[in-house]
Amino acid sequence: MALKIAVCIKRTPASTSVAIDASGKVQTKGLPHGINPFDEYALEEALRIKEKLDGTVTVVSAGEAEAEEVIRGALALGCDDGILLADPAFAGSDGTVTASILAAALRKAGAQLVLFGKETTDGGSGQMPSFTAAWLDCPSAIGVRKVAAVSDAEITVERGMEDGVDTLTMSLPAVVAVTKEINEPRLPSLKGKMAAKKAPVAKWTAADLGLDAAKLGGAASPTQVLSMEPVPARPAGVSIPGGTPEEKAAALVQKLKEAKFI
Ligand SMILES: Cc1cc2nc3c(=O)[nH]c(=O)nc-3n(C[C@H](O)[C@H](O)[C@H](O)COP(=O)(O)OP(=O)(O)OC[C@H]3O[C@@H](n4cnc5c(N)ncnc54)[C@H](O)[C@@H]3O)c2cc1C
Repeated sequence: MALKIAVCIKRTPASTSVAIDASGKVQTKGLPHGINPFDEYALEEALRIKEKLDGTVTVVSAGEAEAEEVIRGALALGCDDGILLADPAFAGSDGTVTASILAAALRKAGAQLVLFGKETTDGGSGQMPSFTAAWLDCPSAIGVRKVAAVSDAEITVERGMEDGVDTLTMSLPAVVAVTKEINEPRLPSLKGKMAAKKAPVAKWTAADLGLDAAKLGGAASPTQVLSMEPVPARPAGVSIPGGTPEEKAAALVQKLKEAKFI
């Protein structure tokens, strides 16, 4: 039986130079966007599993209408179809609520194996894979750097830990979040890019997913962002004068004394 694989991807700013407006919200409008870089590894792994097991790969993204661009980018790599989860009711959802939306879509799509990237380059909470697995009530492994074996019933993965490597076998359905060590992502072919333009991308709303709008969005989210502040700019460095290493060392000691470090 062909394995139904799904990859969750997010459209993120291609630059880290985002602005924070007067109300403390991150503004990314007008910046170039693309597939979250970590998701490219999840897509590559999904395609390798598909090629091995003759499965299908569905790309899922929750976001605004523009997220269709990154879905088509993933289709150009060889994924089979895409699902855009877009509804004004989703706006402002925190991680828990966003994961409930993803889980409802993954369940409706019949996904048996769900791949994620480890984190995003914007929100970067790294919570989405675990939260989604919790809503799906299925096992998950985060920080996966190798898929050792996979069948239509189970998957065995290696997970990098601080002091070693864990090898885990999980029954399907399961959620796996991968790191950049797992593979080398492919680039889209011209043929793939052409095919992606016509490939099917379904658009599902809260109603399509049978979700209650009262449980979606910022107001229904248990987390409220109070403020966001940019990291302060680093102060200018101090150059230590002196012709010889000894003179420089003496000048450095003097400066440290003045600053009361020593
Ligand atoms: C109160 C509140 C309001 C928020 N309002 C907004 C908002 O209006 N707009 C907004 O963009 N963010 C909003 N966020 C942040 C939003 O909830 C997170 O961006 C989102 O939950 C994803 O988390 P992350 O970026 O930390 O992903 P991570 O957990 O770091 O990502 C891990 C993996 O999950 C995948 N993933 C993450 N998000 C999605 C997605 N949407 N669809 C498919 N795959 C995904 C990533 O691609 C990656 O593979 C809000 C957060 C809070 C707390």
